[in-house]
Amino acid sequence: MNFENTIGLETHVQLKTRTKMFCGCLLKTGCEPNTNVCPVCLGYPGALPMINKEAVKLTVMSGLMLGCEINRHATFDRKNYFYPDMAKDYQISENGNPLCIGGGVTIETPNGPKTIRINHIHLEEDAAKINHYATTSGVDFNRGGTPLMEIVSEPDMASADEAIAYLTALKEMLVYAGVSDCNLEEGNMRSDVNISIRPVGETKLGTKVEIKNMNSFRGIHAALEYEARRQRECMAHSIPIVQETRRWDGEALETASMRSKENAHDYRYFPEPDLVPVALSEEQIEAWRALLPEQPKARRARMIEEYGIAEYDADVLSQHKANADYFEAAAKGLDKKIAKQLCNLFMSDVMALLNESGKAIGECAMRPEALRSLVTLAAKGTINGPTLKELLPEIFEKGGDPEAIVKERGLGAVSDASALEAFVDQAIAANPGPVADFKAGKKAAAGFFVGQVMKLSKGKADPKIVGPLVAKKLAAL
Ligand SMILES: [Zn+2]
Repeated sequence: MNFENTIGLETHVQLKTRTKMFCGCLLKTGCEPNTNVCPVCLGYPGALPMINKEAVKLTVMSGLMLGCEINRHATFDRKNYFYPDMAKDYQISENGNPLCIGGGVTIETPNGPKTIRINHIHLEEDAAKINHYATTSGVDFNRGGTPLMEIVSEPDMASADEAIAYLTALKEMLVYAGVSDCNLEEGNMRSDVNISIRPVGETKLGTKVEIKNMNSFRGIHAALEYEARRQRECMAHSIPIVQETRRWDGEALETASMRSKENAHDYRYFPEPDLVPVALSEEQIEAWRALLPEQPKARRARMIEEYGIAEYDADVLSQHKANADYFEAAAKGLDKKIAKQLCNLFMSDVMALLNESGKAIGECAMRPEALRSLVTLAAKGTINGPTLKELLPEIFEKGGDPEAIVKERGLGAVSDASALEAFVDQAIAANPGPVADFKAGKKAAAGFFVGQVMKLSKGKADPKIVGPLVAKKLAAL
């Protein structure tokens, strides 16, 4: 029997706010434990929470990007559980009445575009971090109360590849809009994945298995592939699949059972009595919508159209907003042919310089206008290719105006035909040996004369003009 996978993801994203979800404590990493804390995030009796408006704004912006319906009257609940990472013994979360409802993310698959539906997005606070030492454990409340947005998808993904494509699209969108850094190593983006299998053609979902708290795309991919295989083997041997939470063991590369449904938590949710509902006006939502940047996908399509650049190049450029912004600032006003040359130079030489120096594009001294001027000088033949390659690292490092530098140092290309002709004559007269070789049928000797002319012109001759000129002169001998 053939089976298909149904995969759904619950993704926790840490919002890029200055302060915590329900108090004014700063969100900073790398601080001494329990230094960014107050009675609210330490759960002292009688301390009252206040909603962080910035967190609401970033969640609504995410919802707008994903095409969700924005709830005008969202409410918070208490999710009760007893564990040292939550001093209040409850987590404040939006259970039944979240901020964003519906929406979706479109991904590319080998069979064409596919939309993964979003069930909802809700806002909540993170728990504290428990650190384990040799003989003791400690709780660090610096992380407690961090605003988290949980994006819950429908079980619409059919493979590990689709799950990764979904997460990649999500991450790209959220980083672009400044909602989150989505730094996986730092735990800014963590996913609970659930997977079940069912016979092809069946519409009812199979028994689902959940794998919690995954924070690497590679781990998620491996865990889903493993679990899809394991469930098929259970089916093949008539072993029932148990609804349970499993854990991914990154070293053994397998999932292992953690807890079954029987001892699943009952959180006894009830409405948070200390917080009023989040009431949003139409004007407020529209004001936040106006802050949204152009989506990476739309930008890619526009850049291909506007600058005539290849799809691959547009793809790479648009992955980093700063790179795409820089390229567009540099290509401003150029015709497509020169913009394409600028793109080639950016993709090869500028990217290489960024890699070597470990700098981000915003940190290099070369202004976008300087790059535009450099490429334009080369396109017009004012400087030749070798001069361009020589000047680029210098301007990248120190900045400056290419036009002024070329003028000041006399780096302008020699493209004047009579001057070049004199160089060619001189090279021929000085090298009777290679001339004889050429006449004896060694056509490759022509390259030697191009080299000589470049030398005589001190590198400023345009090789594109010299080549044909040498060929003509040699043929006439
Ligand atoms: Zn606090």
